[in-house]
Amino acid sequence: MTINLNQPIKPNLDKLTQYLAQVNESGWYTNFGPLHQQLTKRLEVYLGVENLLLVSNGTLALQIAYKALNVKSALTTPFSFVATASSLIWQNIETSFSDIDKQTYNLCPQKAQQALDANLDIDTIVATHVYGNPCDVEKFDDLAGKNKINIIYDAAHAFGVNIGDKSVLSFGDASTLSFHATKVFHTVEGGAIVFKHKADFERAKRLINFGIDEKGNITEAGINAKLNEYQCAVGLTILDDVEAIIEHRSNLFSAYREGLKCIVEMPKWHDGANFNGAYMPINLKSIEERVLVESTLKNNEIQCRQYFSPSLDMVFKEQKVLSSNNSQELSQTILCLPLHFYMVIDDIDLIVKLICESLGSFK
Ligand SMILES: *Cc1c(COP(=O)(O)O)cnc(C)c1O
Repeated sequence: MTINLNQPIKPNLDKLTQYLAQVNESGWYTNFGPLHQQLTKRLEVYLGVENLLLVSNGTLALQIAYKALNVKSALTTPFSFVATASSLIWQNIETSFSDIDKQTYNLCPQKAQQALDANLDIDTIVATHVYGNPCDVEKFDDLAGKNKINIIYDAAHAFGVNIGDKSVLSFGDASTLSFHATKVFHTVEGGAIVFKHKADFERAKRLINFGIDEKGNITEAGINAKLNEYQCAVGLTILDDVEAIIEHRSNLFSAYREGLKCIVEMPKWHDGANFNGAYMPINLKSIEERVLVESTLKNNEIQCRQYFSPSLDMVFKEQKVLSSNNSQELSQTILCLPLHFYMVIDDIDLIVKLICESLGSFK
């Protein structure tokens, strides 16, 4: 039987139907309705944050965050899902890439500082917590203060991740989440932005509703990026189980890391952070090794994916590149292994065994 790379959480239909019946009862299908309010509150409590704004997907979460913070010129990572950079370019924001750290695979703060020194007009850093592994948020905090710039985190992979007792979403001026069906927590399509400042949250809330404020006045040009009540119903249904989902995923992730630690490289995790088991990345020593592992898994009906590849500076060639060597190298040898809630430890043991056997025979 095939082991899929990913498998979306299937919401409990009895529970979901009860929520949908409430929507029919109230007749309120979208525009910040009762389920929207419930989901907002429950997510704020669960994640330990304030100023959380639900939006219709993770890409619009990024775009609205850029608008709300008046981003004109951004420095970002070439090693992320395409939306991190394409959302900037789509909005005609001047976009520069600087390289990742070789060990964490996240945007490197030292290289970012060098990039800022050479480009005085950059007003914002957009960094991704890649695979749910927090960036060096302390260093980026320093950097933001020193250079008087904004930090926006693409936290699409980092649902439920804390550093010590603090949510990873509480760092930076804004953090964005994706609730796409393939993510740890989902609303089929959806997302959220967590703002540090209430005023930014208030402005973003108007921006996602055509620029209309609570009194009905149009304050500026906006867009429609609201999450509807049906999607909130899915979110409320799944949220009941999300703690168990994250616990199971992080157990699978730990089993992988233990089984593979001697044979492949894996990202160095932030010291104070918990695992959410969002992805299972391994970095092979060469392209040949990566190809070998890919074909071994394929022969056993096990999916895997070169994620992220290519390095985004190779896609958006018209943008400025200050450095990207680590990202370019990593994108050739990275592989993500199957990891989802419906897997069991035996699946992990099988995949670890196949990888160890194939690499063991490779000299
Ligand atoms: C999934 C993802 C997005 C996009 O989110 P959507 O909800 O699919 O629009 C953006 N950035 C990263 C890092 C992602 O993984």
